[in-house]
Formats: sequence, C-alpha cells, structure tokens
Amino acid sequence: SRQRAKRVIGNWKMHGRLAENEALLRSVVKDAASLSGGVHVGVCVPSPYLAQVQALLGGTRVGYGVQDISAHTHGAYTGEVAAEMAIDFGATLAIVGHSERRAYHRESAELVATKTRRALQAGLTPIVCIGETLEEREAGATEAVVGAQLDAVLALLSADEAARIVVAYEPVWAIGTGLSATSAQAQAVHAFLRARLAAKGAAVGDVPLLYGGSVKPENAEELFRQKDIDGGLIGGASLKSKDFLAICEAAQ
Ligand code: PEP
Repeated sequence: SRQRAKRVIGNWKMHGRLAENEALLRSVVKDAASLSGGVHVGVCVPSPYLAQVQALLGGTRVGYGVQDISAHTHGAYTGEVAAEMAIDFGATLAIVGHSERRAYHRESAELVATKTRRALQAGLTPIVCIGETLEEREAGATEAVVGAQLDAVLALLSADEAARIVVAYEPVWAIGTGLSATSAQAQAVHAFLRARLAAKGAAVGDVPLLYGGSVKPENAEELFRQKDIDGGLIGGASLKSKDFLAICEAAQ
C-alpha cells in the first residue's frame, strides 16, 4: 500500500488562556515551517479561542479545529457548538469520541457515530477516538472493544465518507498517565483496525491511523516508525512548544 503522510495533532483539552495561547501558537507556526513538507501539523483548541487561533494560524501550514462538536446542525442545545460555527472560524478538524467525552459525558458509540457523520457532512475532518480501558485490556477484550467502537462509526457512513475520517487509537490507560502503549502493543491494534477499515473499502483501509496516549519526545520516533501508525494525537506534550516540536520532528 502507498506511503501515508504523517500527522501530528495537538489536543489542548481545557487548557490555555489568551496570552499563553499566543506564545504557543507563534512557536508552533515557526516550528512547523522548519519541518519537511510531508508532516501535517494541527491543534484542537477550546472553542472560545477559535478567533484567536484563526488570526494566528490562518494561512499557515498548521491546521486547527475543535475537540468535540454537536450531533445537531443548530437548535435548542444549550452549551453545544455546531460544526458550522467552527467552520466560520476556518476550522478543518474536529475530535469526536474522545475517551473523556465518552466517560464524563456518557457519549455512546452511536452518538459518536452521529457526530462523525455530522462533521463530514459539514466539511470537517473528524478525528475519531477509540480505545479500551485497562480492565478491558486485561480481560483480553481490546479488539472486541475497539472493533465495536469503530464498527458503530462505519455503520453510519458510506465508503466514500469513511475514506475521509481520521482514526485515533487511544488506550484509555495510556492517556495522561505517562504510561504509553509499547510500539508493539500499539502496532498490533493499529494492524487490527487497518484490516477492519479495509473491509469497508480499499480507500478506507488507507485512512490515517494515529496513536494517542502519553506520546512524548522520548517515545514518538519509535511509535511513528511502526507500519500502521501514521502519527499521533498529543495531549499534555502539545502544550509545551519544545516537546510538540520534537514530536513533530520525530514524524518526519
Ligand atoms: C489525549 O487526550 O488525546 C492524549 C493523547 O493525552 P496525553 O498525550 O496527555 O496522554
């Protein structure tokens, strides 16, 4: 299969204020300009900062987007942000189904699937997060869990739509814990997911498959060298410009 471009996407979560965002975004733009052309760099920020991010990243090679979107186009959904609202500020990316949304906001596999379809219909690239808990891994249920999470999304999409998603495998036990999956553990799940995607269509089998969970400068290169790992979704380390740059460099 052909060579897939590497992607490094930051997930800021609920961090940042205007002044520190500005410093971080300026560094990311400068650093991204020093990378070889093949690496796609992006950041997913808290929605109130989209205007600031548009002002600093618009027209640069760094993409940006939001960390969640509503399943609805508009309406009486207090507190939610529609895909079109993010697009008004130049966003091209939307994380959907992050484990923190699934766990703390009770998002079901079906809701995540609906959000994924909504993002695609609006013209955003959904970064669909899936992953097992430690309990599920220890019970030998990793493939069953991530397979079901992925199937719920694929069931709602045509093959053409499915070919336009990005999938992030993020084992819940590795997120924010400092305990990354080993490159072998991650590669094994990515190969499983790749086959599952390919069953939906040849082009779907080629979608970017990112790894997320305690990626840092020390482990990024080894993870990104794996055959089916096309880059990373980076939480904590995306808030430190030096670490984020080092991770982007590891993807070159
Ligand atoms: C994430 O939340 O998407 C993530 C990968 O976090 P961290 O890198 O901090 O583990």
